[in-house]
Amino acid sequence: MKTTCPYCGVGCGLDAQPDPAAGSREKQRAGERCTAEAGTPGACTAAGPEATGPAGPTDAARWAIAPDPHHPANFGRICSKGAALADTLGADGRLLHPQIRGERASWDRALSLVAEGFMRIAREHGPEAVALYVSGQLLTEDYYVANKLMKGFIGCANIDTNSRLCMASAVAGHRRAFGEDVVPGCYEDFELADLVVLAGSNTAWCHPVLYQRIAEAKARRPQMKVVVIDPRRTATCDIADLHLPIRPGTDVWLFNGLLAYLERTGSADKDFLAAHTSGAAEALATAEETASDLFSLASVCGLDDARLEEFFCLFANTQRVVTAFSQGVNQSSAGTDKVNSIINCHLLTGRIGQPGMGPFSLTGQPNAMGGREVGGMANMLAAHMEIENEAHRRIVQRFWESPCIPHRPGLKAVDLFEAIHAGRVKAIWIMATNPVVSLPDADRAREALACCELVVVSDCAADTDTARLAHVLLPAHAWGEKDGTVTNSERRISRQRAFLPPAGEAMPDWWIVCEVARRMGFGGQFPYRSPHEIFDEHARLSAAENEGTRLFDIGGLAGLTREEYDALEPVQWPVRRPMAGPVRLPESSAARADHSGRATASPCRAIAPTGAARPSYAGTARLFGDGRFMHPDGRARLIATRPRMPAHALDETFPMVLNTGRIRDQWHTMTRTGRSARLSEHIPEPFVDLHGQDALLAGVRPGELARIVTRWGSMIGRARTSGEIARGQVFAPMHWNAVVASEGRVGALVSPAVDPVSGEPELKHTPARVEPFLVDWYGVVVSRRPIGAPAVTWWAAVRIDGGMRYELAGRGAPPDRTQWARHLLGIAGAADEGYLEYFDEGSAVYRAARIAGDRLEACLYVSRRPELPQRRWLASLLTRPIAERDRVALLAGRPLDGAGASAGERDDGPLVCSCFRVSRETITRAIERHALRDAREVGARLRAGTSCGSCLPEIRALLAAAASAD
Ligand code: SF4
Repeated sequence: MKTTCPYCGVGCGLDAQPDPAAGSREKQRAGERCTAEAGTPGACTAAGPEATGPAGPTDAARWAIAPDPHHPANFGRICSKGAALADTLGADGRLLHPQIRGERASWDRALSLVAEGFMRIAREHGPEAVALYVSGQLLTEDYYVANKLMKGFIGCANIDTNSRLCMASAVAGHRRAFGEDVVPGCYEDFELADLVVLAGSNTAWCHPVLYQRIAEAKARRPQMKVVVIDPRRTATCDIADLHLPIRPGTDVWLFNGLLAYLERTGSADKDFLAAHTSGAAEALATAEETASDLFSLASVCGLDDARLEEFFCLFANTQRVVTAFSQGVNQSSAGTDKVNSIINCHLLTGRIGQPGMGPFSLTGQPNAMGGREVGGMANMLAAHMEIENEAHRRIVQRFWESPCIPHRPGLKAVDLFEAIHAGRVKAIWIMATNPVVSLPDADRAREALACCELVVVSDCAADTDTARLAHVLLPAHAWGEKDGTVTNSERRISRQRAFLPPAGEAMPDWWIVCEVARRMGFGGQFPYRSPHEIFDEHARLSAAENEGTRLFDIGGLAGLTREEYDALEPVQWPVRRPMAGPVRLPESSAARADHSGRATASPCRAIAPTGAARPSYAGTARLFGDGRFMHPDGRARLIATRPRMPAHALDETFPMVLNTGRIRDQWHTMTRTGRSARLSEHIPEPFVDLHGQDALLAGVRPGELARIVTRWGSMIGRARTSGEIARGQVFAPMHWNAVVASEGRVGALVSPAVDPVSGEPELKHTPARVEPFLVDWYGVVVSRRPIGAPAVTWWAAVRIDGGMRYELAGRGAPPDRTQWARHLLGIAGAADEGYLEYFDEGSAVYRAARIAGDRLEACLYVSRRPELPQRRWLASLLTRPIAERDRVALLAGRPLDGAGASAGERDDGPLVCSCFRVSRETITRAIERHALRDAREVGARLRAGTSCGSCLPEIRALLAAAASAD
C-alpha cells in the first residue's frame, strides 16, 4: 500500500507491506546489535528498515515500512523516524473507546454530549464561547469539515491549529509579500541551486530526507555551497561551507544588512523591481538605516565580520540561491519581519520562481500546508480566502449554504488558551494535539483546561497530558488507519492511505466532526460518506469564482471518482481545470447522507493500479516565474522590516537564552515515536545542553541533573555539554511530556510572547538560568510492565525492547528500601523465591530483582552515585531466558561472562545508527582500531549510516573527533 509519512513536512512517500517474517525475527532483534569489538565486516545481523518488523511488545500487526522509490518527495529515501514507523503500530497505548469523565461510553452518547454541550454554551454565551483547537496531524479532509463546522455553522472563527506554533510567521510573511500564502518553489530547486542558505533550520534532524537530497546534490556538484545560519552548531553544519552562529533574535539585522549590501554592490534586478514589485525604496531605506555598516552589523549579530562579508559576497555573486527557513526564523516575536527580510533579498535580486532559486518555508508537520489550504487558522476562511474580505465571505457562505459566516478572525492559539483561562471560552474541542505540552507557558494552558466547563479531546493516544484533562475522550484513527490527503512543504498533495483496520472503536476524525454536526442540526451540509466526497467539495470550493484570483486552485482534481481519488498520484497545486466552467454547488445533501458509521471507513481497501483509467491532471512545480503575484496590482511587496530585539530581555536573574527544538529521533510530544524502543535509544532522557564554561560557572556537571528556570516555570534534565552551544545559551528538547518524565515539559518554561502579525510564539528565546539539581541518590528500574509514575523526586521513563526503563533520582533516603523496592517491582504479598535483594553496605548500593521462572520481570538499582549498572545489559535480560549466572550477575550489578557483557549487551553509549542499532563507542572503537577515514568506510565495516543516513552527521563528527585526537 502506497502511503505518506505522518511526521515532518517533507512528506515522504512510503510503501507498507505485510511482513510475515517479522514475528520470527523479533526474538532475535534485541541481542542483535553490531559491535566492532565482536564482529568482523558483515557480521552484523540486525535487520535494516527494509526488513525490520514492528518491535513493540504488544503490537498485533506485522508490517514492513519502506520508502517509496517513485514518490517525488523522497525517491526512495527515508529517515530514522519513518523507518521505525512499524514499531508504532498496534493497539498498545491506543484510545480504544469513547469515554465520558473516565468511564467507557457509547459513540452515540459521547457525540450527543459534545453536540449538546457546544450548542448550549454557544446559545447561552454566544458562539465566541466555544472553540476548536486542531492540528497539522489531521488530514486535509478532517481539517476541511472542522473548519466548515466552526466558521460556517457555529458561526465563529475560533478554530486555530498547532501549526500556529511552527509556521504562522511564514504564512503572514507570504501573504504580505506575495498577496497569498504560497511557497514559490519545489524540492528540486535545492538540488539545482548553487547556493543553499539554511536559516534557523536544523534540516539534518528536522527535515532529514530533504537534507539527504541537498547533501547528495552537493556531493555530485562540490562547487555548490551551503551556508547555515543558526545560533547552534547543529548536525546540519556537517555539510556547511560556512556556519554563521548568529546571536539569537538578530536575523532581521542580518538580512537587512544583506539587502543593503546587494543594492550597494549592484546585485539588484532593476527591471524585475520596476515591473513586478513595489516597496523596494522603503525597504532599502530601512535596511540602510539599520544595518548598512558591516562592522557594527557583525557586532550586533555576534558574528565575525569577515565571515559575514563572505556570506554577503557569496549571495551577491550567485544567481541560483535557495534560502530555506524554518522554526528558528518563524518562532519569534519578530517572526513575520524575519520572513519578509529574507523574501526581500530574493525579490530585490529577482531570484524567485525559476529553477534553483527562491525563498522556501520548511513546514514542520505533515499537513501544516493542507490545514492552511482549508482555512484551519483562525484568521483565514477556506481555500485561501480571507475572513475580512466581503467577496470571499460571500463565495464561501454561498458554496457551503451556511446560515452564517464570521466577519472577523477568531482567537489565535496563545490568545485562545488565555481566553479559556479567563473563562471567556467555555468549551474547547482539541483534535490530534497535545497543547498542555507544546504551548508556551504550558502550565497556564493546563490550568486553563482544568477550569474549562467542557473539554473534548479526540486523539489516537489514550494517555496524554491533555487527555488527562478531558471530560469527553473520542478515539480517532491513527496512521495506518487514516485515509485522505496531506500537502507537504512544496505544495505536493499526496494520499495517506489506510492499510490497517481501526483499533477498538476508533473512527476517522472527519466522521466524528460530521456526526457532531449532524447532532447540532447541520446534517444536511455534512452528508459525507467518505473522505473522497469531502476532497471533491474542497477541490470545487478552491475553484469557485476563482478565475485566477487565487493561486490555491485544485479545480482540476474536482470530480474524481472514488477509484481515481484512491489512485491519486502526488501532485503539486495549483491543479487547475483544463477548461474554465461553472463550478457546481454541492449536491443536495440529504440524498447522500449515510451515517451508518464504520462501514464508511473501508480501511483495507486495495488501491487501484496506477495505470487504471487515470484522469489527466497536471501540477505546478514553480510559481511567480512570470512575475505576476497575487496582490490586486499583480506586484510583490518588499516590506520595510525594522529590527527589534526579542520580547523579553536578559537580566541578572535570567542571564541566558533558552532555545527549544527537536531531536533527531522523536516527534512532537512523543505520543507515537516514544513507543519505539530503537528511536528512544538515541536520546533517552530530557536533557539540558549548555556551553562547558557556563556549566562550570553554574556548578552543573555533565551526566548529572540540571534545572532550567524561567519566569514561567522550570524543567529538569540530564546536563550535557555537546559543544553545539555558544556561551550564554541553553538548549532543551521540546518532546518530553508528563507521562514519560516528571519535570521534562519545556513548554512550561517558554515565554508566551507572540509575533504581533502572525501570533506565533517566541519559542526560541526565553530568558533563563541553569542550576544544578542536587539529589541524594540515583536509581534505575528495568521492568517488563509499566510501573506508572514513580513517587520520587525525579524520574524519566523510556521504552526498551521487551519493556520499560525508568531513571530515578531522589532527595533523602527512600523511606523503607525493601518495601519501596517491592512496591516498584510489583510484589503484592510476601516475597517468593524469585525475589532477589542485596544491599552493599560499603558502597551503599541496593539491588533487587524479581524473576518468574526463567524470565526477569523487573530489577531495581539504587546508589548515591549516578553510575549504575549498564543499561543495555539490563535491558537485554528482558529479551532472553535468565540463567543461573544471570541471577548472580543481577545481584552483582554487572555481567559475569569474563570479558564483560556479550555482544549486543555491552553499554556502548547512546545509539547513533537507529536502523542497525550501532552505538557511539562501537563506532569510535572501529574508527580507532581500523583507522577508518570516512563515513563510507564506517558503513562498509559496521553498516552504520548505510540505510536512512540520518546518523551520517554524527558519524562524521566522531570521525572528526578521532582525527583531531590524533
Ligand atoms: Fe517522515 Fe523522515 Fe520523510 Fe520526514 S524526512 S516525512 S520524518 S521519512
